[in-house]
Amino acid sequence: MPGNAPRPVNVRWTAQRLSLFYTVFVLLAAAFLVRLVNLGVVHGEHYARLSENNFLLTRPIDTPRGVIFDRYGEELAYNRSTFVVSMSPGNLTTATVETALGRLGQLLGHDLSGQYQPIVHLRPRWKSHVLRQRLTLDQATAVLEQSYNLPGVAIETRSQRYYPWGSMLCHVLGHVGKISPQMWPRCQRDGYEKDDYVGITGIEAQFERSLKGLKGLEQVWKTSRGRILSSQILQPPMPGDRLFLTIDLGLQRLAESLLLGQKGVILAADPRNGEVLAWTSSPGYDLNRPAEIANPADKPQINRAIQEYYRPGSTFKILTALAALEAGWTPDRRVTCEHRFFLPKWKRPFTCLGWHGSVDLVDGFRYSCNIYFYTMADFLYDLDPRDSGFRLVRLARRYGLEDFTGLAFQEPGPPTPGFEEEAGRLPTLRDLRKERGSLLHLAIGQGRVDVTPLQILMAYAALANGGELLAPCLVHELRTDQEQIVFAAEKGVRRKIALNPDHRRVIVEGLLASVYDPGGTAHGAGFLPHWRVAGKTSTAERGGDLESDAWFVGFAPAEHPELAVLVMIEHGGHGGKVAAPLAARLFAHYFDSTRTRATVVSRDGHPL
Ligand SMILES: [Zn+2]
Repeated sequence: MPGNAPRPVNVRWTAQRLSLFYTVFVLLAAAFLVRLVNLGVVHGEHYARLSENNFLLTRPIDTPRGVIFDRYGEELAYNRSTFVVSMSPGNLTTATVETALGRLGQLLGHDLSGQYQPIVHLRPRWKSHVLRQRLTLDQATAVLEQSYNLPGVAIETRSQRYYPWGSMLCHVLGHVGKISPQMWPRCQRDGYEKDDYVGITGIEAQFERSLKGLKGLEQVWKTSRGRILSSQILQPPMPGDRLFLTIDLGLQRLAESLLLGQKGVILAADPRNGEVLAWTSSPGYDLNRPAEIANPADKPQINRAIQEYYRPGSTFKILTALAALEAGWTPDRRVTCEHRFFLPKWKRPFTCLGWHGSVDLVDGFRYSCNIYFYTMADFLYDLDPRDSGFRLVRLARRYGLEDFTGLAFQEPGPPTPGFEEEAGRLPTLRDLRKERGSLLHLAIGQGRVDVTPLQILMAYAALANGGELLAPCLVHELRTDQEQIVFAAEKGVRRKIALNPDHRRVIVEGLLASVYDPGGTAHGAGFLPHWRVAGKTSTAERGGDLESDAWFVGFAPAEHPELAVLVMIEHGGHGGKVAAPLAARLFAHYFDSTRTRATVVSRDGHPL
């Protein structure tokens, strides 16, 4: 280093080191001599045979990709062995390669002439190039039977990712695929080979590093015709880690079946810790054939829970109520609903779906009375006309709207493909100042408000748990194949919201009334009384002639919630009639089976 004085040389130490060096050198030379004699005299004939047109190569050994499970250890993604046929140019002439390719092509019924160039230009020449994957057993046998006629050609088994449930959880699991030219420079640095498969989207991409494991290394003697004479494992492969999602397969399967043939979203999460138990965005696509998209116009690749905008409609009303209560609105304040609400200087009246007469806050939720929430909005406006009720927007932001939900396992850097989220949109202060009616639209979740279903679920989870805005979490833990836990998810609290317990109590009372009271918007949807489901329906207009989106979002048991559920059917119609009954099925499944199951102890002795 410049500026540093040279260190004095320790003569005695240097002499000792030199003498040690000579000793090691002499020992090595002796060992080498012994080895030489041994090779030449004892094994001379053996090695002479090996060296004749044969070559030694070091090649990687594939390792199985880590299996993905649900929270109870049910397999969601695993590996199956398949046959691949590959070719190595070795010492073959170009003419031999061409002939062999022609014969192989005839055997497999597939023209392989396009593979000629990549093979003859393969460097180093002992490397092999994969010609066809997923061979049937008959094809593989046929190639093996003809191997004497197919120099350089080899049949190998490779492990291939398999998703036993097809399209289920497709937007969460993601899929694996070939390395694209854009990905290649980075993959090459990380030790991948061109034929390798990598996680392309979702969990498969997010946890690529842990799932892929470490390849092994073996040394192989091969003849020039590609026959393996002997091999030795230099380094055994290390399998990928086992990944346990927070998903409950039973609940997930039910959610998938309820959305079959419809466009929409079903989400279920534990409001105590943000763990996602079910995540369905419909339609989806088959993970085993990700390139085969049947109806692209239906956008099956879009994860509707985070990548599509919706009007929240009446599900937004909990935020309007919270903002008004914080500003001094009293829950027993009564408003008279005569179907219409007039704003001064506003051309058209704002309407309610019914004629509800005198309503208080609980009635407001029971009937989802728009007039009640318009009046609340006007109350917010009158508190400070210069602010134009913008405090409602600020409160909505506190509950996570117009922001990313921050899926808890996301690392810094660009989001994983498939997990890119839309942040949503709320009116600006300018919007509200421009038109007084904008605030009234917002109060019932219409107008300039765009949300993702996951945002709404997490806002309700915050109300459920008493004011913690949680990051949704999909990964429970990662274990090595030796069952060592290398990663365990922790509750991700995005924000602690100062939620007044009295405000929570009265809103929950209103949400219970909407589910259980005669006249409640979700009454008759099949929620059993003892579940104590607090929920809100929404029939959110889409504009134009399009049918409204049907929503239900709720949690249970109301006093100590452990499950929050959101159902949204695009153009489904009435929230109470279409979405709420589906939510009731999910609560039924949870209370009948999941809770019983939660007491079961896992293999390592810990309660799951
Ligand atoms: Zn009304």
